[in-house]
Amino acid sequence: MKFNTKDEANVYQAIGQNIKKYRKLKGLTQEQLAEEIDYSLSFISGIESAYHQTFSIAALWRISVVLGVSIDKLCVVNNNNNDIKFMLYQCDHCGLVTKMPINIVKHFKNIYELAGNNKLPTFDCTECDGKLIPVPQANSNNI
Ligand SMILES: [Zn+2]
Repeated sequence: MKFNTKDEANVYQAIGQNIKKYRKLKGLTQEQLAEEIDYSLSFISGIESAYHQTFSIAALWRISVVLGVSIDKLCVVNNNNNDIKFMLYQCDHCGLVTKMPINIVKHFKNIYELAGNNKLPTFDCTECDGKLIPVPQANSNNI
């Protein structure tokens, strides 16, 4: 069997999604979970995003204790959930349409929220000096 780093990233992403699910069931914010396990908020935010944020078994254990969920439950990898979802962005200058992985959008949205900004993040256009802004979609409230 051949292994590659993309599959590894998917494993971290799946575990991150499990952590997010059980954290929400427990009614904890990312901030509260970070405080309980004595890690930074950006650490938790990174784990729950699509970024390849690695973490130790010890960190996973702390999370499992705080959430009251066994480590094996947090490690369930459901391959059906690993399809990367995208959000459409369009340049306000040249009109370029691009697909942005939704977890990247979420990651930056979390950072925006720390600064008190509740808007969706924008990105620099790769083709011109314009800005990529989100194309309104029916499901964009789910972020
Ligand atoms: Zn552009």
